Amino acid sequence: MLDNYNRDINYLRVSVTDRCNLRCRYCMPEEGGGNLGHYIILSLEDLARLIKISTTIGIRKVRLTGGEPLVRKNIGQLVQYISEIPEIDDIALTSNGILYSPMARELKDAGLNRINFSLDTLSEERYRFITRRGELKDALKAIYTALEMDMHPVKINTVIIRGFNDTEVMDFARLAYEYPLHIRFIEFMPIGDLHFWKEQRMISVDEVKKQIESEYKLETGRIIKGNGPAQYYNLVGGQGSIGFITPMSNHFCGLCNRIRMTADGKLRGCLYDKREVDLKEALRAGASDEELKQLFIQAVDMKPARHHMNNGWGNENQRKMYQIGG
Ligand code: SAM
Repeated sequence: MLDNYNRDINYLRVSVTDRCNLRCRYCMPEEGGGNLGHYIILSLEDLARLIKISTTIGIRKVRLTGGEPLVRKNIGQLVQYISEIPEIDDIALTSNGILYSPMARELKDAGLNRINFSLDTLSEERYRFITRRGELKDALKAIYTALEMDMHPVKINTVIIRGFNDTEVMDFARLAYEYPLHIRFIEFMPIGDLHFWKEQRMISVDEVKKQIESEYKLETGRIIKGNGPAQYYNLVGGQGSIGFITPMSNHFCGLCNRIRMTADGKLRGCLYDKREVDLKEALRAGASDEELKQLFIQAVDMKPARHHMNNGWGNENQRKMYQIGG
């Protein structure tokens, strides 16, 4: 359906848990956080029912996220339920990849079309530092597995953070040159742990692009399935591509086609807008499909024209990325 700014809303991002097996420093606290119990989060059957209802307002694409979606028990079953909804033509997932390799076949067979991996560094030591709990080799193995299983396009999301991983831009570019991978550099946003990760850490991707252009020729115009807000460039002579996602330096809200559902059953029209519609309460009160559909319409109606993240540094957000669904 069209929202109040004439944007066609056809994409639902579904957070299936706020739990994560990593504790990335800018995203989650070391202890606590990510602990919603089973009685608070929506069941797989409720999620499937809501996704089916969302198709009646025009949702065609679903992305599962979290927290870490692969820590959710029976996630393959949810993918299967979604793939049985004929109106949904694209099922994607965003993951840190740590648990992916042994689950890859089951997920693909259940109907998963694509997977984006989050990877902020190619250094083993830095990976341990940023994630506090993870090993780079497991994340890399996931990426190779996805390539081997033809889960194309395989995308890697890299949040670029000054003083942390900005020295690795060329290493990521090389990865996209050598492998059919699509590396997307994402600007750091004022969401998450802002005590240490402050505004000075934000680098505009323009800076990153200039760095890459010092060694590689970039060519515009590449269309990549599910390309959303990223602006893609081919690396001339290479296999993959580089994408830039600029929520801070050049917001793309005019093209926004998404709404978000949190693991505890709230609908949000925008990552950075606190207003939410409570689906879970309605579900538990026995709402009909038509009543739930009206709540989806309400969320679309609430979508603001644009986010105001640039005013957000230093503000405490009520919800962090892992609580909304990154
Ligand atoms: N666990 C999954 C993963 O690692 O992809 C999905 C959830 S995670 C919250 C989704 C993405 O949000 C990750 O790529 C992470 O880097 C990103 N993220 C978290 N905080 C962010 C921030 N302040 N700015 C930009 N991206 C952020």
